[in-house]
This record gives sequence, C-alpha cells and structure tokens, in this order.
Amino acid sequence: MRGVVLLGNRRSEVREFADPQPGWGEVVVRLKAGGLCGSDLHRYRQDATQRAGNVTISGHEPCGVVECLGNGVTNVRVGERVSVYHYRGCGYCKECLGGSLMWCAASRGYGVAIHGSNADFILTDARNCLPLPTELSFACGAMMACNAGTAFSSLRKLHPFGGETVAIFGQGPVGLAGTLFAKAMGTRVIAIEPTAERRKLARALGADETIDPNADDANSAVKELTRGEGADCSFETSGSSSGVNGAVDCLRLGGRAVFVGKHEDKALAPSQIIGRQLTLMGSFILPIYMYHDMLRLILDRGVPLEAMVTHRLPLEKAQEAFALFDSGKTGKVIFEWA
Ligand SMILES: [Zn+2]
Ligand SMILES: [Zn+2]
Repeated sequence: MRGVVLLGNRRSEVREFADPQPGWGEVVVRLKAGGLCGSDLHRYRQDATQRAGNVTISGHEPCGVVECLGNGVTNVRVGERVSVYHYRGCGYCKECLGGSLMWCAASRGYGVAIHGSNADFILTDARNCLPLPTELSFACGAMMACNAGTAFSSLRKLHPFGGETVAIFGQGPVGLAGTLFAKAMGTRVIAIEPTAERRKLARALGADETIDPNADDANSAVKELTRGEGADCSFETSGSSSGVNGAVDCLRLGGRAVFVGKHEDKALAPSQIIGRQLTLMGSFILPIYMYHDMLRLILDRGVPLEAMVTHRLPLEKAQEAFALFDSGKTGKVIFEWA
C-alpha cells in the first residue's frame, strides 16, 4: 500500500509499505477519506533534522470501510462504514474504561507512534471502529475522528446555554467546526480570524459576526457586540498569544473559556482571571464515547459538516495538499479515495 511520510522542512513523500495484517481483536480499514489536521502541520513544518529517520505514515483522521478482521472481532463486519478513533489504548485500564484512550499509559497515536491515515489501509483495534451511518459522508467521518470531535468536546465543556454568545478565536478547521456546533447548540457566534478567506467561510457556515483581529482590537470589538458586557464563553483554537489573551479578556464577569490551540507563551497572568472569577479549561480531542453524542447532534440538527471541506485531493498529491493547508487560507483539506 501507499503511505505519506512527513520529512520536515515542508516536504512530504508517498512511499510503498507492506499491507497491514490484523491480529487478534484487530481490524484493517480501507481508507475512503482522511483529513489533514493542524497538528500534522507541526510535524510538516519541523526541521528536517528533527524528522530524520522517521518512517511513520502521517495522519490521524481515518474513515473508510472494514477490509478484513482478525480473530475475536464481533462488533464490526467486512464492508461496514467506520470512523476510526485516533488513539489506540490497552482497553482495560481506568482511562480506557473512562473512554480517554489518549490517556492510557500504553496509548499509541496515529501518525506519531503508529502508522496513520494518510495511507490506503490502516490497522486498528476493533474497539476503535465507530459506526458511520449512511447519511454521513466519509469526509464527515474523517473530520469526526479528530477535528470536529475536538471542537465538540470543547463546546461540551463550555456547556453554552441557548442564546449565549460564544467568541471563537481562529477559524481553521477546529474553529470552523466549533462555529457549526455552537450554532447547532443555539448560541450566537462571534468568530475572530485574521484571514479573509476563513472569515468568509465562517459567515457562510453561520457565524453571526466576524472580527479581523489585525484591523480591530478583538477584545473591544467583542465588548461592542455585547453591549459592553463581554462574551459568555470563548473557544480558543488559534494557538496564538493574542488569541489566548483575547479569549480571556473578551469574557463577561464569571465567563468561561476553553483552550485547544497550543502555544508556549506564558503571557497569561492570574490577575486577568481572579477578580472577574473566570473559569478556564483545557481540552484535548474527545473521549471515545462522545462520538455518539456528536453523531446525534449532527444528525438531529443537520449540521453541515461537509460544507467545511474546501479541498479534496488524492493521496498521490500529498505535497500539494499539505502546501495548500499550510497556506492558512483553506477550510478543511482531505484526502479522498474513489
Ligand atoms: Zn488532529
Ligand atoms: Zn488503557
């Protein structure tokens, strides 16, 4: 089979690999769609010397059909449509039983520790195979594996009431999925995004207001749109220092924020949160059981997840796909198989 390897210095390569064979309790899935995620870009942009010797296939948003089963698999059948949860765990420890396979001491993440989704086939555990109903495309299933799941799980932590205002910092794929889900949850969305193409996409997906933080001070603009009070909640996906501070400063008294955009800047001061009694939370992908809650919201409210996809490419155009996504101007970029 073919698989994409990220070489660093913004280069990728399609290589030949042996087809995976399922062992006991394992499943091989034939890929139909595989998403490119922001965290893949970290590895794509890494220095080539840091990537030297890496031979792991990239990608952690797998979706496709079950190709073959190892012994002992009873929950899926050959030909079944599945989205694949993107961390493999032992299945028995406290964290696995709680659904947080990514916290398992033996966890293995696709595209980093084990071969990922930018390949013709992927090997997984039967428990990682999540049913994808026929109403939803493979592209949707791929996004639900990380991108949309990350946004859904974050909004679940904010728990916005209908009618509340949510400020979403960054409208890359996670921010855009956040906009879609926050709208489906009945909130008003203010999307903060410096790139014109992504602001346009955010509006098309239902954002009530958009702010260009390079043209206007995001904090003042959010206050202006909320009669001086500030947003009820904020969702930080940009990973920028201005986004992190903005997500805190734009909140109303007693507001709450959730962060998924990684940044190493220690620019946040306790004085920003104490007097205003803010609640700040971190979020990291989603526990596996939450896939079913996300699926229900998407189906019940007709969330147009597919509308986020701006580029679909075959695997052999990996270099072009990563370059497009790296431009920071796209919606979701996905690999698709016929
Ligand atoms: Zn991801
Ligand atoms: Zn475990």
